[in-house]
Amino acid sequence: MARIAFIGLGNMGNPMAANLVRAGHTVRGFDLVADNLKKAADRGVLAAESAAETLDGAEAVITMLPAGSHVLSVYADIAPRAARGTLFIDSSTIDVASARKAHAIAAEHGHLSVDAPVSGGVSGAEAGTLTFMAGGNQEAFGRAQPILDPMAGRIVHCGDGGAGQAAKICNNMILGISMIGVGEAFVLAEKLGLSHQALFDVASTSSGQCWSLTSYCPVPGPVPASPANRGYQPGFAASLMLKDLRLAQEAAQAVGAATPLGAEAAQLYALFEAMGNGGRDFSGIIEFLRGKTGG
Ligand code: NAD
Repeated sequence: MARIAFIGLGNMGNPMAANLVRAGHTVRGFDLVADNLKKAADRGVLAAESAAETLDGAEAVITMLPAGSHVLSVYADIAPRAARGTLFIDSSTIDVASARKAHAIAAEHGHLSVDAPVSGGVSGAEAGTLTFMAGGNQEAFGRAQPILDPMAGRIVHCGDGGAGQAAKICNNMILGISMIGVGEAFVLAEKLGLSHQALFDVASTSSGQCWSLTSYCPVPGPVPASPANRGYQPGFAASLMLKDLRLAQEAAQAVGAATPLGAEAAQLYALFEAMGNGGRDFSGIIEFLRGKTGG
């Protein structure tokens, strides 16, 4: 069993760290918010008073932080203090450029590193069924796999450093665009007098089939577990979708990729958030689309 440092014990980090404890690892954790640290301690995480204090002989460091700036400042603080050869795993969703800088900081101090963002949300974190998208060399990935395992349903090695973040933002760009597409189709169907169920029954078995329709349908009824059936409580908050769409746009601009629908999706989610909907599930954008069509 390993000694693991875990920094960032929020909505995702808390259940992830708890699953590592459950698997028998010794987990020393830190969060800037005392209440989050206490919640983690209640689940068996040893509470540290600083990020540096989590190291204490740790062979791996996991970070689950809000954005690239947080990850880089934590890496700058602890990479010089960690024993050479420590494995750094960053599971936050951050921009590709910062992910590559984080790999460089780790390498500079003789460490191995993996960017390993996740899909599956808080429920996947609780259940230990997250999908990890990993970027890093083979040696780092090989060491990361057994550590990620108790938190994972699936672990995909996407390529070298930064490839995990690249996969994450490409996937979520598809998701943001497809949710708007499905929402638009339902709004058009409503105007044409077609029932939600009829459109679902056709499109879910036809060429319009996609995850946003069949697993996360944005109207109540056809998929009982979808957030539409509980007033668009998240689920996956619109503000997080907007964050990921913005990361995709930043990356697209940096490499000169044309992503016009990704850009439009980011703008629509920005408007949706500006109208006070950031905390609602991202599938609630259908209500905004209805408003736009005067429905
Ligand atoms: P969160 O805000 O609940 O947790 C982040 C935690 O990091 C907070 O508790 C905060 O206090 C802590 N933190 C910030 N700076 C710190 C520092 N310097 N040292 C120690 N702790 C620090 O966010 P979350 O929902 O847990 O998401 C974490 C990451 O996972 C984000 O990058 C997010 O985009 C990504 N993600 C979230 C979800 C989701 O459904 N919530 C799904 C997939 C990916």
